[in-house]
Amino acid sequence: MADILLQNTLADNPALQQKLANQELLLQSIQNNYVKPRQVLTIPVVVHILYREPEENISDEQIFSQIDVLNTDFRGFNCEIASIPSEFKDVIADTELEFCLAHIDPDGNPTNGIIRTLTNIPTFDPKGTRHFYTDEGGSNAWDTEHYLNIWVANLGGTLGFASFPDLNPNADEDGVVIDYTAFGTIGTAAEPYHLGRTTTHEIGHYFSLRHPFPGPGVPECVFDDGIEDTPMQQPSYGGRCPDYPQFYCGTSDMFMNFMNYSDDPCLNMFTEGQKARMIAALFTYRAALLTSPTCSKEPGSFNELSLVLLPNPASSSIQIFPPESNIPIGSLRIANIAGQIVFQDNQWPTRLSIDISSWLAGIYFIEFYCNGKTWNAKLVKI
Ligand SMILES: [Zn+2]
Repeated sequence: MADILLQNTLADNPALQQKLANQELLLQSIQNNYVKPRQVLTIPVVVHILYREPEENISDEQIFSQIDVLNTDFRGFNCEIASIPSEFKDVIADTELEFCLAHIDPDGNPTNGIIRTLTNIPTFDPKGTRHFYTDEGGSNAWDTEHYLNIWVANLGGTLGFASFPDLNPNADEDGVVIDYTAFGTIGTAAEPYHLGRTTTHEIGHYFSLRHPFPGPGVPECVFDDGIEDTPMQQPSYGGRCPDYPQFYCGTSDMFMNFMNYSDDPCLNMFTEGQKARMIAALFTYRAALLTSPTCSKEPGSFNELSLVLLPNPASSSIQIFPPESNIPIGSLRIANIAGQIVFQDNQWPTRLSIDISSWLAGIYFIEFYCNGKTWNAKLVKI
């Protein structure tokens, strides 16, 4: 949706077309020279709930469930990673972006990062701007340089939309807008948009990602999203979960990429190229987000459990035991003290024995994430 709104705006605005072209060149040069040490960056979020009917006033828990999805999806900690076809596995990204509800408001006061506004507007027009303004029935943005503003409202059938960095002439209208039936994973979240992927997708746009498929009227197989590791494709896969594989434009389509229109259950990954693009956009156009007061991880935090590890300390090999039966398959990662990943298995817990004989002596951190839970252990290599 964000792409379509942008196309409409561009159609009669040559100056904006030029700005977009310049931005594309700049981001391309940065993303292609992307070298960055591992560093998890946290984006402070404020959620504006606009409601007329009681059910539109979604619960705190539903909001927390969306923050959890963002932290899972952007870090590549979603269990579905295990089912990504092998041809795409090498480009699955941990974007190292996390999200948390702001705990300090723009005036320096404590907050839970949630604003609730009773409105008399039954449905908000996605092409309009009333949702952005308190005196028009919406809710004023918090300083959009320092907070990612997310509005949740009844959009009357539209799932959501977002503003691209530096292309929105009005800073008060910068952020992401999501329908209340496509936000979070509980409460009013309705199938097939009940896994929080609409917000993941729209925040992709907010950090400058395009769809991998062309907009209306574009000839087949000429559009490129500016990302090298997303294959060129034609369909948007809107409203379905296609069978693998799907071939268009001479390649197998990555229909499970978050920037497609597939149903929530089959939107599962960002690529390394998309990560480079998002980080480039973040540091170029949205760097002030990183200077915000750090926010509480509490609502988006994972439920932490411990992993059983034997032997520990260890010198040649270790065995990691599934902490409970029926544990879903997900991503196991081991990082050294500098935060570099030294081992990763996206199919855990099917493989349990790891050869560590070549590792340097020291402390290693083992983490397994899946569906909003994290299991941890600390390994001492001797
Ligand atoms: Zn989109």
